Order: sequence, then structure tokens, then C-alpha cells
Amino acid sequence: MSDPNELTVLNPATEEVVATVPAATAEDVDAAVVRAARAQTRWAALAPADRARLLRRFADVVDAHTEELAQLEVREAGHTVANARWEAGNARDLLLYAAGGAERLVGRQIPVPGGWDVTFQEPLGVIGVIAPWNFPMPIAAWGSFPALAAGNAVLLKPAETTPLTALRLAGLALEADLPEHLFQVLPGHGGTAGRALVDHPDVAKIVFTGSTRTGREVMERCARLVKPVTLELGGKSPNVVFADADLKAALDPFSFLDNAGQDCCARTRVLVQEAVLDEARAFLADALAAVVVGDPADEKTQMGPLISGRQLERVRSYVPDNAPALRGKAPDGPGFWFPPTVLTGERHDSPAAREEIFGPVAVLLPFTDEQDAIRLANDTPYGLSGSIWTRDVGRALRVSQAVRAGNLSVNSHSSVRYWTPFGGYKQSGLGRELGPDALTAFTETKNVFLSTEVPAP
Ligand code: NDP
Repeated sequence: MSDPNELTVLNPATEEVVATVPAATAEDVDAAVVRAARAQTRWAALAPADRARLLRRFADVVDAHTEELAQLEVREAGHTVANARWEAGNARDLLLYAAGGAERLVGRQIPVPGGWDVTFQEPLGVIGVIAPWNFPMPIAAWGSFPALAAGNAVLLKPAETTPLTALRLAGLALEADLPEHLFQVLPGHGGTAGRALVDHPDVAKIVFTGSTRTGREVMERCARLVKPVTLELGGKSPNVVFADADLKAALDPFSFLDNAGQDCCARTRVLVQEAVLDEARAFLADALAAVVVGDPADEKTQMGPLISGRQLERVRSYVPDNAPALRGKAPDGPGFWFPPTVLTGERHDSPAAREEIFGPVAVLLPFTDEQDAIRLANDTPYGLSGSIWTRDVGRALRVSQAVRAGNLSVNSHSSVRYWTPFGGYKQSGLGRELGPDALTAFTETKNVFLSTEVPAP
């Protein structure tokens, strides 16, 4: 039972306490909203170039603290140190990208008879960002930094297991001279601080990343206030491997093992054309055995622990000891360890093949031809990402058009860049983050008509 007043942050690799943090209450959220609203009014009145200058300074300060932020992420989230450095760099790069966006956020002039019609992109006000534990720094940044650049204030509620990098980022914002109270972090429980943000009438928009179950509740509560919401939810992404593909690249186990599989884009449904199924199985068996699982602070480690005992139990529930599977190795406790695993005896409609496991577990499933591959790829309530591997360009185009997902990669597993849009179809979410329209998502469009036919007095 978690303490309503305090968050205990554990190192998932050792189960040692890293820190305890006071948990924000609903009253804390109310007070933070009032402070944020005041700060936002002044921030929005600044010239875009001045907002951009401060955000670039913030990026410089983040850059100077990359190693500190990365080490914090290793301790609180169990990420490998290489991944954690990338994550701090991603926050910095997004700040720079968003800063440029502040200078380019403009309205339009639309021809209308009898006058001029102009549009303005106005900031929404105070934005609530609710972040998960799987990528604490990047996901906090994706929700927060474009919103700040567009002239909003941000209240960020990190996951209760991983509040430390978010708190440090807020401290670095102040070191960079961002106005006080403009970017506040409210560590707390989802059911109290998270809900208070969602229900607050003066929080103009919610950006939520997490499970589809909680996302649905957030959307329902936002609906009561007709509050806009961006949802980045779960995934069960296909990796469609045709027989003519570069098998070694296509079956890279880090397409589903990155971040110990706690990745909404993980390609956890490995769909392989029957003709190369045996070859794929043999390749994956060797690849899993070679994965270095262990202390995430060690530079040689490729995969760390799961985030919590709760997550470990969840992952275990999908992988009975006697399940037909290819398995790698993992340390014994302490720590929340699970070995890299590919389930080989699942049907495409079994729970392990349909539900988001969020651990280092994929299912291997055969398909016959192109139509069968498309049918299986789309036979899921999710639609976040996926990969398609073939040397046939026509087939690559046909399949990437037919698969209903927001982020697809052809002959690649890479799908997240801060300058391209990111988001899901179906129950993977609503709206898009990042990319050229990232700032616009934090604005209202105001249309003003100015008549030029004013009668003489
Ligand atoms: P949740 O969706 O419950 O948590 C995500 C965030 O929402 C956390 O900050 C959480 O706070 C907060 N939250 C929880 N309840 C509410 C609420 N009622 N109102 C507002 N905010 C709330 O995910 P879990 O941590 O429970 O993970 C469960 C599963 O969700 C995972 O196994 C995985 O399948 C999926 N998931 C998907 C993610 C993705 O990137 N798409 C990310 C994380 C999880 P708190 O930390 O206090 O619970």
C-alpha cells in the first residue's frame, strides 16, 4: 500500500531507496494552478524571440547537466546509461527545436470580400502534463517544452515511481532564468494529483501518456469540462518480416528489448513469413542468449531491470514457466529482473499476442502472404507503430499504406524523432506530439475579420 503523503523512489536494479519525495495533494495542485496562471500571462506577453532565447538558455543548462540527469535516470528508472544519456540529449534537442518554433508560430491572412481576415495562434493557458515511468525525461519534455514555447505554463505530474529527473529539469529551468512558476513539477499519485489536474477548470489542456485504461478515464473526465486532451497510450506493434528481408536487421532483438521492453513502440508481435520461420527462430535464439542483462550503470549492459515488483508480476503472468519460448538470461534478485523472451507457441488471438505486456517479451507468429501479413498486423485494438521489412519497394508501399498505425518504419525499426509527428491510431491514442505542428497543438486559433467598409461618420 503506497503512502498517500510520500513517494518512495526505489532503484529497480537493487531495490534500494534512492529518495523520498513529498506527494502533492489536490490543494497543492490548486495553489500551483494559481501561480502558473499568473506566470503564464507574463510569459505569453513576451516577444517570441525572448521566449526562444530563454528556452535556448534552458537547453544549454540541460546540456551542461546531461551526465547528472542520465545518472539520475539510471538510478530511478533502471535505464542503461547509454539510453539515459540519449534521453537527456533528447530533452535538450527538443528544447532547441521548440525554441525555434516559438519564433515561427504565426497566423494566416485569408482573402475575404469587404475586409481583411486574419488568424492568431493564441496560447491555451496552463497545461497539465501527466507522464509515465517508462521514459520519464523524454515524455515529460514532449508534453511540456512545445507547450512552453507556444506561450503556455506547464504543470507536470511525473509517475510516482520516477519523479526525480522531472524535479531536476524544473530546477534547471530556474537556473536558466525561466520565470518562476512557469514550469512546475508536482510529484504525486495519479488518483490525487493526476486527477486534480484533470478536473481543474483552469487547466486548459491535458497531455497524458500511459495505459489505455487510465487514458480512457482521463478522457472521460476531460469531456465533462470539454477540455482538450492528447493521449499517447499503449501499443502492440507488428514487425512484419517478409522472406526477402535482411533477416539479421529485421530481427534485431532490441526492436522489442529496448528499455527492457517497457516501450509503447516495442515491436512485440514478430510476424515472419513461413518460408523463413525456422531461420528466424534460430537467429532469435542466438540473439537472445547474447543480450547482456545486468547493472544498468555498467557501460557494457544492454538491458536493465523492469521498473517495479508490480510490473515484474504483470510480465510473469504472461509467461508461464512451461510456455514454449526462446529465453535469454537475467540476474537473480534483488532487483526486478526478467530475461529476454520470445514466445513461440502462441496463437495470434491469445492474451500474450494481443495485450500490451510492457516487458522484454515478444511473440513469434507466422504469416503466409502479403494479405495475411496485413490482416494480422491490423488485428489489434492498438495502432501506434510497426516495422515492415522487404526488398520489394512496391510491397513496402502497399503494406505501409494498409497498416493502420501512426508511426511505421520500412526496413528500419526507428520511429521516434523530435522533428516528426508521433502518435497512435485506434486505442493507441488521440492527437500527435512532436514534429512541425507540436506548438500548434497548444494553441487556439482565433479568427478576426476587419471590415474595410466602415461608413463615413
Ligand atoms: P498508468 O496509465 O496508470 O500511469 C501513467 C500516469 O498516469 C502516471 O503518472 C500515473 O500516476 C497517472 N495516473 C494514474 N491514474 C490516474 C488518474 N486516475 N488520473 C490521472 N492520472 C493518473 O500506467 P501504469 O503505471 O499503471 O502502468 C500500467 C500499464 O500501462 C503498463 O504495464 C503498460 O502496459 C501501460 N503503460 C503504457 C505507457 C506508454 O508509454 N504508452 C507508459 C506507462 C504504462 P501514478 O504513477 O501515481 O500511478
